[in-house]
Amino acid sequence: MSAAHPVILVVNAGSSSVKVSVYTVPEAAHDNADINPVLSAHGQIEGIGVAPRLRASMADGHVVADESFPVSQVADHDAAFRLVRLVLSVGLRDNPPVAIGHRVVHGGSDFAQAVRIDDDVIARLEALIPLAPLHQPHNLTAIRAVRKAAPDMLQVACFDTAFHAGHDMLAQLMALPYAYYERGIRRYGFHGLSYEYIARRLSQVAPDLAEGRVIVAHLGNGASLCAMRNGRSVDSTMGLTALDGLPMGTRCGSIDPGAVLWLAQQGMTADAIQSMLYGESGLKGLSGVSSDMRVLLASEAPRARLAVDFYAYRAAQEIGKLAVTLGGLDALIFTAGIGANSPPVRSRICAHLETLFGISLDAAANEENGQRISSNASRVPVLVLPTDEEGIVALSTARMMKACGKG
Ligand code: ADP
Repeated sequence: MSAAHPVILVVNAGSSSVKVSVYTVPEAAHDNADINPVLSAHGQIEGIGVAPRLRASMADGHVVADESFPVSQVADHDAAFRLVRLVLSVGLRDNPPVAIGHRVVHGGSDFAQAVRIDDDVIARLEALIPLAPLHQPHNLTAIRAVRKAAPDMLQVACFDTAFHAGHDMLAQLMALPYAYYERGIRRYGFHGLSYEYIARRLSQVAPDLAEGRVIVAHLGNGASLCAMRNGRSVDSTMGLTALDGLPMGTRCGSIDPGAVLWLAQQGMTADAIQSMLYGESGLKGLSGVSSDMRVLLASEAPRARLAVDFYAYRAAQEIGKLAVTLGGLDALIFTAGIGANSPPVRSRICAHLETLFGISLDAAANEENGQRISSNASRVPVLVLPTDEEGIVALSTARMMKACGKG
């Protein structure tokens, strides 16, 4: 790691994990050149409160930590964040970070771009906790922990909602009484950091496609689709919260709101319904086997197969819906854990799209997770592009650092 270049940290605090990445920020080649932060190390702790495991490695793959901890030592996100920072700080002693960028799930209608964090920003983000109960509190825990330990540290919040901020009114509305829209009860969309990265990447690898009508399928533990025109988001399958749209690992995706009413009328509390919709539904709830796609694909259980079939059916249906929004389809992109690594899931989704869109896959390219996996005969090109949400947070943080004259 070069001591001459400023260092920034990127923090991605999930529901049961904290990931911290270290980037160095080289000088831009000239005044108008964009900054290009370079990953130098990554640490993460998973299984917080259940079976904490810390792993940290340098960008060249050299492992600096791989250790399990008793739950009592890493009982919450605060402890996890301190531990990861401690491990990574060994290599940072001579060059401490000048800024920290956070992935923050919900920016509501207040934040359409990355923002420097102060007390007012923290208060606004706290008000959004009910709209992202699984993620927002943990994002804020990391922010507060840094503010306490280093009050002058430049902290930047980068939002999963921001990339979707320009959506047309029609894409934002839900047909509730209009007063609720004005109170912020509207469709925002999520996974925006991933989509922003994919939009940039597509403009590098296939600029002709990037200008067109593109649907990106971010299929990870969370899953959504984004419809883009000329690199800008025009609609997404996620809405007010990250529950909407596609079925996910443990989240339900779109369901009839009448089902929620029915659960409440049976006497379930709001908290119990929330736990079920966020944590016990989706692939896990349908299969009764696992939320993990790899486990389901390897399972012989009939309901594991049913869950995967439903997943592919719903993804294809929503692709059709977004193609209507775009008025056609010039490219389909798969990304995230499942999207970038699972040939059988991609082929099951694309099988549904053959008749309507003329999509066909090149079986060998799909099997190898190649970059272009559609066949020559396919009317719509299909690509696989791994995502890099942390890289986008690093870029926004580095830009803010320069704008603030730090580093
Ligand atoms: P997160 O949303 O937590 O960042 P990821 O993007 O890492 O999640 O995606 C996790 C999902 O990706 C899991 O369902 C996992 O099974 C799946 N996945 C990862 N690698 C593969 C693979 N080789 N084949 C099938 N699924 C995979």
